[in-house]
Amino acid sequence: MTQSMHRYDARTVDLVFDYMRERLQYDPVPLDHPGDGERLSGALDGLLNAVGNDPADVLKLYDHELSRAVISADSPRYLSFIPCAPTKAALLFDMVVSCASLQGISWLEAAGAIAAENQVLRLISDRAGLPDTAGGCFVSGGSAGNLSALVVARDTARHRRGLAPGARLRIAVSDQTHSSVTNTLNIIGVDKLLVPTTGHRLTGAALRAALEADGDPGSVIGVVGTAGTTNAGIVDDLAGLAEVARAHDLWFHVDGAYGGAGLFAPSVRAKYDGIEHADSFVVDPHKWLFAPFDCAALIYRRPWLAKGVHTQDASYLDVLHTDDNDGWNPTDYAYHLTRRARGLPLWFSLAVHGTDAYSAAVEAGIALAADTAALIRAEYPELEVVRDPELSCLVYRRRGWAAQDYYAWSQRLLAEQTGFVTPTGWEGEVVARFAFLHPGTTMDMVREILDTMR
Ligand SMILES: *Cc1c(COP(=O)(O)O)cnc(C)c1O
Repeated sequence: MTQSMHRYDARTVDLVFDYMRERLQYDPVPLDHPGDGERLSGALDGLLNAVGNDPADVLKLYDHELSRAVISADSPRYLSFIPCAPTKAALLFDMVVSCASLQGISWLEAAGAIAAENQVLRLISDRAGLPDTAGGCFVSGGSAGNLSALVVARDTARHRRGLAPGARLRIAVSDQTHSSVTNTLNIIGVDKLLVPTTGHRLTGAALRAALEADGDPGSVIGVVGTAGTTNAGIVDDLAGLAEVARAHDLWFHVDGAYGGAGLFAPSVRAKYDGIEHADSFVVDPHKWLFAPFDCAALIYRRPWLAKGVHTQDASYLDVLHTDDNDGWNPTDYAYHLTRRARGLPLWFSLAVHGTDAYSAAVEAGIALAADTAALIRAEYPELEVVRDPELSCLVYRRRGWAAQDYYAWSQRLLAEQTGFVTPTGWEGEVVARFAFLHPGTTMDMVREILDTMR
């Protein structure tokens, strides 16, 4: 049985490759629908049995039932949360990574893959203006990156300040900081110093004032700046935060999970000034750098600090750290061990298309947000732009609508496959929001959606 299970079976290969070829050719990708639990469990009933099934039947079940109950994040009409718009080259190479069973833990096992991933990390570091010594690894997402980075912030501060393990520690954040950072702080036992924002933006002046007004500023060991808030795409005052961080000996972490890609867009690059001082930085290529899920780049200014914190000590791993095998081990730079070489799809796509194509594609999302704001102002008196877009997210309201109007409208829009646009909160009010990112989204699609709000 084992042998037949691992044997190359041309029929299954053709079936799956044909399916993939068809999926890659969808233009545009259909949105599809939310799932119906009863229908799905009916379709799956009895499938995992002792003897297996014909692969054609299983694939058909996936195609006709399961995949239709997955809203396609790569549809150009998917404008909720943060969409995903992987390039075909990146998608294809993701399959190569799977076929090659790459174990991305260590230089000993995967030097070739890690060299290529590090080339991408270097490119991103250069865009951020980080020093030549900067480095890190790819992790599963912004949440994993924030957690791994802030553990290093915590342990580095403890060590440098000679703090007892039980000493109270805090990291400064704003009310716009991503929920994964709050989650991280809970996990790592660090409290937050909540700094008020000005126009939803965290500034160096506000951080300085909060530290000066605080009764226990010595317990604050770091600050998280956001380079593109998820809701509205606002970039914090990174230069100001960096300056205060330096003066107060704080670890400066920049969460650019969504907006970090703006480093590739000349029209907005100046907003990121100060990022070159970051001690750690996270950007999700699975968001706005057109890589498939799940891919986040985590970069440290001084990676040896991360290595001191994250290197796992297990006798069966000792061989990874002998003098002979002293290469770059991604496992040493985050909390993970086994790791998919998930930076490779991005590497392949960057190598194939070049960075200019990336800059143009990021600029396309920025232009969509700006053009939509202008369109609303020019032609839709019943709508109102809540805040001028800075990156590719746009928050706007329909005058006179209450929360339930937005929710009902959003459901209708999806049912009719016009768009997937979910409402968001803004200063206590429910409003509408577009997250642009897919270069295939057109202003005609936007108009079609806005027309449903008349
Ligand atoms: C999306 C996002 C995260 C979380 O990233 P995941 O990849 O979903 O784990 C963190 N911070 C910001 C600013 C984000 O936009």
